[in-house]
Amino acid sequence: MSAFQQRLERLRAELARAGVEALLVSQPESRFYLSGYTGHDLPPRDSAGYLLATRQRAYLLTDPRTSEQAAYEAPDHQVVVYGNVVSAPARMAELARQDGLKRVAFEAIHLPYLIARQVREALAPDAELVESTDLVDRLRIRKDPQELEQLRAAISVLDDCLAHVLQGLEPGRTEREIAWEVEYYLKTHGSAPSFDSIVASGPNASMPHAVPTDRRIQAHEPITIDIGARVGGYASDMTRTVCLGEAPEKLVEVYRVVQEAQEAAERAIRPGMTGREADALARQVIERAGYGQAFGHGTGHGIGLEVHEPPWLSPARGEAVLEPGMVFSVEPGIYLPGWGGVRIEDLVLLRADGVEVLPRSPKTLERAEVVR
Ligand code: ZN
Ligand code: ZN
Repeated sequence: MSAFQQRLERLRAELARAGVEALLVSQPESRFYLSGYTGHDLPPRDSAGYLLATRQRAYLLTDPRTSEQAAYEAPDHQVVVYGNVVSAPARMAELARQDGLKRVAFEAIHLPYLIARQVREALAPDAELVESTDLVDRLRIRKDPQELEQLRAAISVLDDCLAHVLQGLEPGRTEREIAWEVEYYLKTHGSAPSFDSIVASGPNASMPHAVPTDRRIQAHEPITIDIGARVGGYASDMTRTVCLGEAPEKLVEVYRVVQEAQEAAERAIRPGMTGREADALARQVIERAGYGQAFGHGTGHGIGLEVHEPPWLSPARGEAVLEPGMVFSVEPGIYLPGWGGVRIEDLVLLRADGVEVLPRSPKTLERAEVVR
């Protein structure tokens, strides 16, 4: 049984539990997860296709531009073509009628309202289209062996990329040059960036999502590099903060607090904790050091086909319980406007007895050999 068939079987168990006969899947990552089909949406109007997964069958609906690719990439699915004559909603409703489906779920966070309405109107009068929010997310949240293999590959090439980029980091180079070098390295090493690189130097480092500028990096200041790679559809994500030459006292202190916060969380996170409890492990260290107000984001996020996906290690939305097989980031930070900031981010795999830290990039603040 292929990995995709296994996932479909697990989805079918979720369908039964939710009391529905089928799920309409439009979210691209979930569509890929269940089928292997890599068609690209052109949002907001042009979907590359829809899955209709029933308890017995698996359909992949596409338009004629991608039907050949769909048949090749998703052999476990029956490819159904829609087009100018019969629209996608009409085709979906037609399949539901043909299979006698009475309760079809759709992804409320992804399917456009208009399409949902058109499907609903075309269904048999006694059939219902019902909202679902997490039927596929519930499967995707724990990674299977095939996914872990891709994630590890995406992390490994990112480790190599960072080592390469740090070698060339010198005062006078611009943030944008460094970001370009990350992109070039990944694209010439069988990968690609999984998101726009963040290279933030000096005062720019106080913005967690800073966009690289033409600012020239200098010695004795924080330089935050947050980068990600993609392999086989799976994303990695890592941050290191470095300083060329000796770091000023304040930077050494802030760095130490962030590193202690990260280590405290990585040491103590266990299955059975909520994401909120895991977040608190890092947050307490930063609060006790007096920087609580300067840590404005969650401690971590799940990662896989999407760079940010459940579970959330966050005070606001960390209600989910952490389970073995989940992969998420641990990335505390301290941001001081006008001064700069520090963030250190690892991806970890949760196991029965704690986390395995996945990247191997060192966490050395000072690159003393560059500037004396
Ligand atoms: Zn990151
Ligand atoms: Zn992250």
